[in-house]
Amino acid sequence: MTTVTFDSLNPATGQVVGSHAKQDAQAVREAVTLAEEAARWWDELGAAERRRRLLDYKAVITGQLRPLAELVHQETGKPVDDAVLEIVLTITHLDWAARNAGKVLGRRRVATGLVGLNLQATLEYLPLGVVGVIGPWNYPVFTPMGSISYALAAGNAVVFKPSELTPGVGVRLAELFREAVPERPVFQTVTGLGETGAALAGDPRVKKIAFTGSTATAKRVMAACAENLTPIVAECGGKDAFIVDADADVPAAADACLWGALSNAGQTCVGVERVYVVDQVYEPFMRELKARAEQVRAGEHYGPITMPAQLDVIRRHIDEAVTSGKAVTGGPESVRAPYVDPVIVEDVPEDSAAVREETFGPTITVRRTRDAHEALELANASAYGLGGTVFSRDTRRAARLARLMRSGATAVNSVISFAGVPSLPFGGVGDSGFGRIHGADGLREFTRPKAVARQRFAMPGMNLTSFSRGADDLERLIRMVTILHGRRKR
Ligand code: NDP
Repeated sequence: MTTVTFDSLNPATGQVVGSHAKQDAQAVREAVTLAEEAARWWDELGAAERRRRLLDYKAVITGQLRPLAELVHQETGKPVDDAVLEIVLTITHLDWAARNAGKVLGRRRVATGLVGLNLQATLEYLPLGVVGVIGPWNYPVFTPMGSISYALAAGNAVVFKPSELTPGVGVRLAELFREAVPERPVFQTVTGLGETGAALAGDPRVKKIAFTGSTATAKRVMAACAENLTPIVAECGGKDAFIVDADADVPAAADACLWGALSNAGQTCVGVERVYVVDQVYEPFMRELKARAEQVRAGEHYGPITMPAQLDVIRRHIDEAVTSGKAVTGGPESVRAPYVDPVIVEDVPEDSAAVREETFGPTITVRRTRDAHEALELANASAYGLGGTVFSRDTRRAARLARLMRSGATAVNSVISFAGVPSLPFGGVGDSGFGRIHGADGLREFTRPKAVARQRFAMPGMNLTSFSRGADDLERLIRMVTILHGRRKR
């Protein structure tokens, strides 16, 4: 039998990094069969053993930090140092998930209330079985591992389909896992194109799909999942806003804004794409931003555009933005495939594609606003709602703006900082998706709550769940409920 393969390429040089199998539906089914058995074994190991093995996996990844970063660099084109940063973040999440799964998910007693006085109630979060993870290419370690680490820690087996642009990294992550857990294929990677992912989403034995990618693909994956009522976590794109309030530390805001927009060539789901600056600080902020942007170059400070087709989107947004707005830094000439130099455009109409659609490139639009209120209104007028940033020296004001920002997470006086805090959940609203990875919510996402109520003794004089129940039983219940719940507070 011949195996059909596809190549992963270095986007900076076009050279072949590796060749991988296009695994078909049959191969995916076989992986899921193995995963089902592995899931039972992994579940029965118990939380303490899983923790030990996952911490071991963490140590294996840490030991391979540099070679893994080199592979990420080759497949995505991003600088090795950025890849190191991504892997370090992954390690901290894996550590947190491993250490906290038992505590967050383990069986615990919950209060029953007076009506259930004779009961003992326990709650436990059980693994789902096999979880399918479908990942993107932009952070090929951090992003899928945000689901994989938490799904594994929660006691599931994982079948992972990496992006066709970064299959080598996906294969390596599973290989490293086998070094820590050689007994059973608890974490497998299947490689291929979209059809391989579709086969995974369509397998009824997969009990949840954790999808990270574009909103359009999420809809297709959801449709495939609907066939079997398979639940899905959808981590999709964003069009994150960055608000600079009148009392902000302007140089710090400009510095953070630029890094949030340009790092990873802007190919970050929570990258800065829209900037709203309050009138009083607009001029100094723009001076800082422009001066700093002129020091940053593609190919030196950040890598190429990984996915060639994205260049067309970036080019279209830049062309539209500079026509309807005013170029501050760069312009159409900034696109020198596969690189794109920084592009900053101001006064771009809010209804243009450059402001509404995800660009996923090193570009930003900037708008002057009357006040923070208007900035917030414009920030929230997006179909997306993933992350966002607020810069203000007033802690209470910043907290209020952050709370009112329509997004899953907001960084204050820093950028993207929430993604590095393992105990914080990560995910979006609207077109940015639903469900959460990371933190306690991220662990629970890959479980089903199991409720058990045990009767400790028969409630004297209140035999309610029996056909021998008398009128007196009901009278006593009504009296008790009236005492407990019948009094109005105002
Ligand atoms: P895509 O939506 O193109 O692909 C995501 C994954 O889905 C890939 O593995 C892809 O495989 C797979 N896929 C494609 N078609 C199907 C299908 N019909 N059924 C099942 N799987 C399928 O996204 P990108 O890889 O281009 O990633 C960029 C997007 O991801 C951006 O919108 C970005 O904002 C978002 N993103 C969101 C994050 C978040 O946490 N919210 C984090 C990182 C990125 P293949 O590559 O082989 O086509």
